[in-house]
Amino acid sequence: MADDTLFLKIVRGEIDADVVYRDDLVTAFRDIHPQAPVHVLIVPNHVIATAADVSEADEATLGRLFTAARTVAAQEGLLDDGYRLIVNCKAHGGQEVDHLHVHLLGGEPLGPMRSRTRAESA
Ligand code: AMP
Repeated sequence: MADDTLFLKIVRGEIDADVVYRDDLVTAFRDIHPQAPVHVLIVPNHVIATAADVSEADEATLGRLFTAARTVAAQEGLLDDGYRLIVNCKAHGGQEVDHLHVHLLGGEPLGPMRSRTRAESA
């Protein structure tokens, strides 16, 4: 059921994760397969399946994802050099877990956003 996502189990503490930030609206924890020296996922404490499923009722939570990302970036020492925030949406976006999440990546230069250009992949 939608209320039983992997990430909701982490929010509830039913599955272990390295939680780095938590408040009334969002929870942040380290990605289990980090793609950069710092790779944290920030998730709403309630299930929004994808970025295509957001509504006006979610606006406080969606804003908090960004302020929490800034808090985590500060904790991780990323504010000066910067970082990348990514939200994958559904199949073409490469989304694997149907619980909206922001990837926070940093700790080294991350290079171009895409490894292949449209021309190269055509
Ligand atoms: P996405 O492809 O945007 O849906 O990203 C899902 C992310 O969740 C991937 O980067 C996975 O490595 C990460 N992930 C999957 N299971 C866990 C877990 N148990 N704890 C932390 N991160 C996880």
